[in-house]
Order: sequence, then structure tokens, then C-alpha cells
Amino acid sequence: MITTKDLTKVYRSRGRDVLALDSVDLHVQEGEVFGVVGTSGAGKSTLIRCVNLLERPTSGTVTVDGVELTALSGSEQRAGRELREARRRIGMVFQHFNLLSSRTVQQNVELPLEIIGLDRHDRRRKAAELLDLVGLADKAGSYPGQLSGGQKQRVGIARALAGDPKVLLSDEATSALDPETTRSILQLLRDLNQQLGLTVLLITHEMDVIKSVCDSAALMRGGRVVESGRLTDLLADG
Ligand code: ADP
Ligand code: ADP
Repeated sequence: MITTKDLTKVYRSRGRDVLALDSVDLHVQEGEVFGVVGTSGAGKSTLIRCVNLLERPTSGTVTVDGVELTALSGSEQRAGRELREARRRIGMVFQHFNLLSSRTVQQNVELPLEIIGLDRHDRRRKAAELLDLVGLADKAGSYPGQLSGGQKQRVGIARALAGDPKVLLSDEATSALDPETTRSILQLLRDLNQQLGLTVLLITHEMDVIKSVCDSAALMRGGRVVESGRLTDLLADG
């Protein structure tokens, strides 16, 4: 469902080159929860941002659901039509939720639907459905500032699902949450994976997250994948 081939990213920073990704080959199967783990600076954020082309890789390819995204034109700011359509099939969840504080929960979830031009009635219906799915039906009229961290992340997840994505990317979605809330959010991701057949690619610096929810994982260090495979095999190898 997600394949990267020879994915390389070099940042130019104050006249120096930083090799953030070094020939990364990743294979995420349809319907699995795949985790990428590594310490700070390993290249995880760069990897996940390259997968939906929020970041343009320096070289290599990214293919999601049969579409080679790196062959499509555009950037984060000005994506071409094909890239915009492909991105719609990729949901993204963020560590700090990225909700609009001046809009209600319902309006936050409706935002991507507004952008694709869904009419008001259909937006409402879809947003209500999604809020129900993440267990927040009773918070539709609340503002983000009135919610707990876990509830905010549920809104973030509902919004990420608005475009009926086949793939969900999670950038440290539980890093700002306490252990109990972390468990409930990971359980939600697992439920969505099973109910909707959603493929999930998540990045984390915590091995516990990988162990509790992932089918497969890759360990990154210094911009490279140093180990990857089914979790059962990785744990058996020590
Ligand atoms: P994390 O390790 O949690 O991903 P960072 O603090 O490394 O967070 O990065 C936060 C933001 O700053 C990211 O958008 C990243 O791309 C950017 N960033 C990280 N390192 C540098 C750097 N050396 N120069 C410029 N921007 C950077
Ligand atoms: P992680 O998410 O695993 O913490 P990142 O992908 O954020 O790792 O960073 C990988 C490397 O790339 C780090 O050395 C970081 O400082 C560097 N980096 C990340 N973003 C930028 C940026 N925008 N400009 C320059 N260097 C960056």
C-alpha cells in the first residue's frame, strides 16, 4: 500500500548538507499497522512528510495505493491537481493536533469536506458520522479549548478520516498524551484499522507504542532503516 524506494532527503542548513534520509526502502502492506521507531533526529518526521509529499524528497520514489506520488507535480504550498487528489486518500494525524481553536469540533472535522466542495448538508452528516466513530458525538458543539488532550486527538483523527482515506499517517500522535490516554488512542487506531481496513503508518520514539499496536515495524538510525519486519519476528530476534 505504501512503498518507498531509495528515498533520500538532503536538507541544506546554514551552508551544510544534512542527510536526513539515506536510501530508505519501506514496504507497508495493505491493512497493516506499521510503526517506524527511532530516537530524535533519526529521520522519522522527514520520512512521514516525504510519504505524503509535504516534503519533496531529494531522490527516490514514493508510491501510495498504486500512485507514484513523486512523479506528480507540485509542492506543499502549490500541489498539482493529481497530487491534491492523491493526498485526499492519505489522512494525517499530528502530535499537537493542529486544530483550529476558533472553530467548533464539528467545524474542524468539516474543514476538509468544505475544501473539496461538499455541500453543507452532506458535510454535517459526514462529520456527525465521523464524530460518532471516534466516540465524540456529544462534543460536536464544543471548542478545542474545552477538550482534553485525548479528545482533541480524537477530533484530529476524525478530521483525518474525512476524505475516506485508505492510509492514515500518524506523526507522534500520542507523544503529548499521558499513558492511559495513549492506550485509548492507540486502541482507537487499531479499531479503525480493523473496522475500516485502514492502513496505518505511524512514527514514534517509544518502543511501547510499537509493541502495543503494530503488526510490522522499522527501526531508523541516522536516516537509515537498520532493521524491519513483522513484529513477531523482530521481537523473537531480540
Ligand atoms: P521532532 O524531532 O520531534 O521531529 P524537531 O524539533 O526535530 O522535532 O523538528 C521540528 C521542526 O523543525 C520540523 O519541522 C523539522 O523539519 C524542523 N527542523 C528540525 N531540525 C532542523 C534544522 N536543523 N534546521 C531547520 N529545521 C529543522
Ligand atoms: P526525527 O523525526 O526522527 O526526530 P527528523 O526527520 O526531524 O528526525 O530529522 C532528521 C535530521 O534532519 C535531523 O538531523 C534534523 O536536524 C534534520 N532536519 C530535519 N528537518 C530539517 C530542516 N527543515 N532543515 C534542516 N535540517 C533538518
